[in-house]
Amino acid sequence: MTETKVLISGASVAGPALAHLLCRDGYRVTVVERAPAVRGGGYAVDFRGAAFEVLDELGILAEVREHATGMRGTTLIDEAGNRSGRLPAEAFAGELEVPKSDLTRILHRITADDVEYLFDDSIAALTEHRDGVTVAFENAPTRDFDLVFGADGVYSRVRRLAFGPHERALHHLGLSGAGFTTGNFLGLDHEGVLQFVGAAAVYLFSAGDPERLTVSLSFATDSPALDRRPRDEQQDAVRAAFAGRGRQVPRLLDAMAEAEDFYFASTCQVQLDRWSQGRVALLGDAGYCAAPTAGMGTSQALVGAASLARNLAVSHGDHGDAFAAYEAELRPYVTENQAKGREAVALFGGRTSAEPE
Ligand SMILES: Cc1cc2nc3c(=O)[nH]c(=O)nc-3n(C[C@H](O)[C@H](O)[C@H](O)COP(=O)(O)OP(=O)(O)OC[C@H]3O[C@@H](n4cnc5c(N)ncnc54)[C@H](O)[C@@H]3O)c2cc1C
Repeated sequence: MTETKVLISGASVAGPALAHLLCRDGYRVTVVERAPAVRGGGYAVDFRGAAFEVLDELGILAEVREHATGMRGTTLIDEAGNRSGRLPAEAFAGELEVPKSDLTRILHRITADDVEYLFDDSIAALTEHRDGVTVAFENAPTRDFDLVFGADGVYSRVRRLAFGPHERALHHLGLSGAGFTTGNFLGLDHEGVLQFVGAAAVYLFSAGDPERLTVSLSFATDSPALDRRPRDEQQDAVRAAFAGRGRQVPRLLDAMAEAEDFYFASTCQVQLDRWSQGRVALLGDAGYCAAPTAGMGTSQALVGAASLARNLAVSHGDHGDAFAAYEAELRPYVTENQAKGREAVALFGGRTSAEPE
């Protein structure tokens, strides 16, 4: 019997997790990743509930635990600078929180021997035919695969090619944010501080490297397009949102201008009626991003990969049945997580808790 050849776009969480499980089940797997190497993203991610079973199935639970950030909790500060409450560690750190870079490095390592990785490349075109999908790459020669999976994040190329323009799937939740690190001038030790300043929030924490403070500046905005604008414009928008607010803000805005690890993200959800189209299926943020405010994105990516692999295994080669079963199994979990993502927008300074359209 010939091996089933699959292509996965995206080498972060969902992609390598699915790659590992499919290799185990006898598939021949290629992963294409736009970046030149596995990336981390500079922030920490957390795991809740069913994600632990998947970490166990992947054989990496103990190793992932070794990288726990060990956050103790977050102090809430009001606009006047007074302490107004305290959130337990689980509020932001789930049942286990690790730097995303440690998770992606581990997932890459457990797949590197069996999976063909094409870094610095991307799918340019997908043409489905009766027996498979012909894939043109930006760099590598054109090849045929039996199945193609999009695990390439919120701005998924696979989704755009197989399901239509981003606008059809992306729903902005009215909140954007910048992140970066700076010197730990507050001396925080596995602790966070969250201050609300009008329709904006400053979240500071230190975990891992005691010399560094991780800064998140989030603010209400109706402009998701900022995501794809140059860094200067993004920083101008942050300055405008935070001007004259909070005692630490001027210092943080200066640090932002200097930060080499600056990133900017709009808080979006991906909402689609279906997650597969013929021989192409989506998983993780590409198919059903719940927004970082949900704290469930990494768990969803892992649980989605495991569900997809399991349903392919029991469908005896019928990908249509497998994709339908995957959707039926995962949809209620995703719906619940996306509701959490919308509700939590206000906690980070957002104005809305938009309902799905
Ligand atoms: C600021 C921020 C904070 C977050 N905090 C948390 C948290 O506390 N807890 C939590 O659980 N989740 C959090 N998340 C969400 C979490 O990071 C994602 O839900 C999770 O990483 C989804 O994994 P994924 O593999 O589906 O997608 P991603 O991690 O987005 O990975 C997509 C991969 O696809 C690659 N790619 C993109 N385009 C292409 C292309 N055209 N061709 C090839 N490759 C491509 C990317 O380079 C990347 O490697 C946060 C996200 C952000 C932005």
